[in-house]
Amino acid sequence: MIGMLSNKDLLDNVAAEVVVCTKCCLWKGRKKAVPGIGNPESRLMLIGEAPGRSEDIKGEPFVGTAGKFLDVLLSEIGFSRREVFITNVVKCRPPENRDPMPDEIETCTPYLNRQIGIVEPDTIVTLGKHSTAYVLGKANLPFHSITQEHGKMFRTKILGVKTLVFPTFHPAAASYNASYEKQLQEDFQLLKKELQSRRDQT
Ligand code: URA
Ligand code: SF4
Repeated sequence: MIGMLSNKDLLDNVAAEVVVCTKCCLWKGRKKAVPGIGNPESRLMLIGEAPGRSEDIKGEPFVGTAGKFLDVLLSEIGFSRREVFITNVVKCRPPENRDPMPDEIETCTPYLNRQIGIVEPDTIVTLGKHSTAYVLGKANLPFHSITQEHGKMFRTKILGVKTLVFPTFHPAAASYNASYEKQLQEDFQLLKKELQSRRDQT
């Protein structure tokens, strides 16, 4: 809670700005902006890269093929998508699903920063290289490659929020490479153990 507004109110305010945002050129190609969705009080936040085709149509993150797999990964560690908060580094779909460009990331991430500041998650799962590079950068930690950082736990502080950053692969990677699918599942099992051990301590 900040002042009289609940986390939900504050996140709704961010979303209301995102859906009419024209700060970078990605707004021109969107059907719907995708601000993020989930539990405003969640301890766990997941951050992807950018909306794809299905997300752009629905205005909701991770509702396409990658999203189906993300739902499976979440259920394997005991969560439904409603219980966590899911968003992306950039909120509008890049043309042909190309990678977001550095200037688009720079222009859009004040929204993500506000979302992190509101939810104050104690765990942030970064999905893929863009999200991981951005979040580790905010913690002044070096990013080498997602292959090198995935499955590691970074206890750190970003934007004044003490949190654990846990990078893993982007769930879309699983659809073109079975070894990524296996590594994502292994990473999520590590995450499950970490969350369980924290619960046991309290
Ligand atoms: N890929 C992402 O990075 N984010 C989504 O919301 C969907 C697919
Ligand atoms: Fe605005 Fe972000 Fe969409 Fe660019 S991607 S128009 S900065 S909401």
